Amino acid sequence: MLLHVCCAHCAAYTVNHWREQGYEVSAFWYNPNIHPYTEHQQRLNAMKTLSERLKFPLIISAGYDLIDYFRRVVGHEADRCRYCFQLRLGQTADIAREQGFHTFTTTLLISPQQKHELIHEIGNSIAEETGIEFLYADLRKRYSESRHITKPLDLYRQQYCGCVYSEWERYGNIKQDK
Ligand code: SF4
Repeated sequence: MLLHVCCAHCAAYTVNHWREQGYEVSAFWYNPNIHPYTEHQQRLNAMKTLSERLKFPLIISAGYDLIDYFRRVVGHEADRCRYCFQLRLGQTADIAREQGFHTFTTTLLISPQQKHELIHEIGNSIAEETGIEFLYADLRKRYSESRHITKPLDLYRQQYCGCVYSEWERYGNIKQDK
């Protein structure tokens, strides 16, 4: 299976979960929604460390599709997470198909901060379009276990979801509308 990974802290338990279900897990990093670029690199470095520690392959998308991200969300700011999920999960399914994986999913499903039902809906819709099965599990109650795994590794931990809008909401004390 190909597992889209959003950050090390969401990936830790999720990788173990799918391994326990009998899947051979490969991770895929594709997150052009993380701004600025230096923040993206810090989160990616944390993910590289986790992949070495938990011994799972990590495929890193070439480039940084910042422009593609903004072309999708500008004008849809209130509903931006939908476009963000479509971009990231769509790319994951495309890479899964190209590289011969039969299933895909995402670590976003463990985050209590994300729009869980929307991720589920978009994953299913991409599965229908691409023919690559979307694996669903509600792992939100396991998020603290995931943090328990990463805590001793002392990995970089982000303070906002990813995009500049979410950074503004976090530090500008704007009401979150994700
Ligand atoms: S808040 Fe998070 S999920 Fe929503 S658009 Fe921004 S980075 Fe993507």
